Amino acid sequence: MEYPKDYRDLIKRFGTQDACIDYIASIRWKDGFTCSSCAGHNFWRLKRLSWICSNCETESRVLAGTLFQDTKLPLTLWFQMIWWFMGQKNGASALSLQQNFGIGSYRTSWSTLKKLRLCTVLPTRSQLTGDVEVDQAFLGGVNGKEIILIAAEKRGAGSSRIRLKHAKSETAKEVQGFILDAVELGSNIISDRHKSYPTIVEKGYTREAMKKPYSWENVDGDDDRLLPRVGRVAAHMKRWYLGTYHGGVKITEVQPYLDEFVFRYNRRTSKSRGLVFHRMVEAAVKSKPLI
Ligand SMILES: [Zn+2]
Repeated sequence: MEYPKDYRDLIKRFGTQDACIDYIASIRWKDGFTCSSCAGHNFWRLKRLSWICSNCETESRVLAGTLFQDTKLPLTLWFQMIWWFMGQKNGASALSLQQNFGIGSYRTSWSTLKKLRLCTVLPTRSQLTGDVEVDQAFLGGVNGKEIILIAAEKRGAGSSRIRLKHAKSETAKEVQGFILDAVELGSNIISDRHKSYPTIVEKGYTREAMKKPYSWENVDGDDDRLLPRVGRVAAHMKRWYLGTYHGGVKITEVQPYLDEFVFRYNRRTSKSRGLVFHRMVEAAVKSKPLI
């Protein structure tokens, strides 16, 4: 499949509601329209978004069960907003979304942005591999200090992809759950000597426990030199959180912001904006509708 090259190309390809619907349908039904009742491939359009199987007459709604279900905004606008969202390197805000696209109310803009954030967790994303640094950091929210678990792939002197999770605690169970979800089995986990890590070996990982050299004994608390990659990610995450959201995000809602951060971080060197766009639309099609 070809992806839009730039904004002009996006407008050219997805300038009409029908072009957007066909694109969404091509993601939803990879091998062409398939009836959910009889698996037939032939259909006719009752309405734009309501397709009828020619064989058994079952109706399929193209947007049903996707993030676009029941939306009042045109799909052409959604596609433009997704493109815009990708370009907001320092985080997207509801106010700038509202101003850029002339959205009537702040409330609509806010709930639209919430949906865009959901599209940052791509259904096709793969787990981290190889040497992976794992640690926890704290984020100050309106309710105090929150625990954020961080995993960062080690690639040479730098890091490649990352994952973040807002955790309830630093227990072994919580840490293990995070690693099992974020890191491929057989990878090498590099951590500090925190008591939550040793049992990860039983789950099918190898582990390297870093220890502070004697010359650092006087350094209080965490020292970023021990796990430099997660240290850099933590610092970057804190600046981003404070800068974009002024630390004002409610704690129950931190994870979508972390997902947005991870999405931007992992694509910081990506040259194919069109492919990222496709992945976001794909995520929207495969997400559940947001009530
Ligand atoms: Zn059918």
